[in-house]
Amino acid sequence: MRRLFAPIALTLLLTACGGGPSSLNAPAIATQRAKLGIIRAYIPHGRYGRHRVRYMRPRYITIHSTQNYNRNSNARTHAAMLSRGELRGRKNSLGYVTWHYTIDDHSIYQSLPDREAGQHADYEGPGNRYSIGIEMCENRGNSRSRTLDRTARLIALLMHEYNIPLSKVVPHQHWRMIRHSDGRDLGHKNCPYFLMENGKPSRKWSRFLRKVQTSYNRS
Ligand SMILES: [Zn+2]
Repeated sequence: MRRLFAPIALTLLLTACGGGPSSLNAPAIATQRAKLGIIRAYIPHGRYGRHRVRYMRPRYITIHSTQNYNRNSNARTHAAMLSRGELRGRKNSLGYVTWHYTIDDHSIYQSLPDREAGQHADYEGPGNRYSIGIEMCENRGNSRSRTLDRTARLIALLMHEYNIPLSKVVPHQHWRMIRHSDGRDLGHKNCPYFLMENGKPSRKWSRFLRKVQTSYNRS
């Protein structure tokens, strides 16, 4: 019996840990990336939030919303702000706020390589050290439902690419924020607020995860 159990246990362990080998081959991933039309607009290497590169093996995917309601604050604008070093994080160790992807109802911009850690979740905590950060735009006129659809498709692809289970797709709210500069515990951020209720993931969050799972099964 023990012999039978060992491979099953190993499989479960690998699934639970995530970050293992991809479940799709490289050409399939390239095709999916092309289909999503991801626009690469990396922050210049060696500057701003990439002046000190910290490599990571992605184990989680962290979902945010920008809370930036200006009509022009779409994905392209956020990517431009990141690449010009306009988003300072005066109280984090990097000095800048950085994340990987920004999504609106018609586009996806990538600002950091997936294997470089950003500063978007919890200062020096595991949310930054091990997760890919995704920001959903909320600019006026942007369709939230189409943004959520596009985000679900990108998450599904990243789950395949880095063997990340659905249980490790989390809202920013999941991470406890202990501020680097003074050690202050800022608790859990209510982000993305429109998928939360009373500061906790709501039924809308569960519905969103089901959408991610459907995209994952399809791809
Ligand atoms: Zn957030």
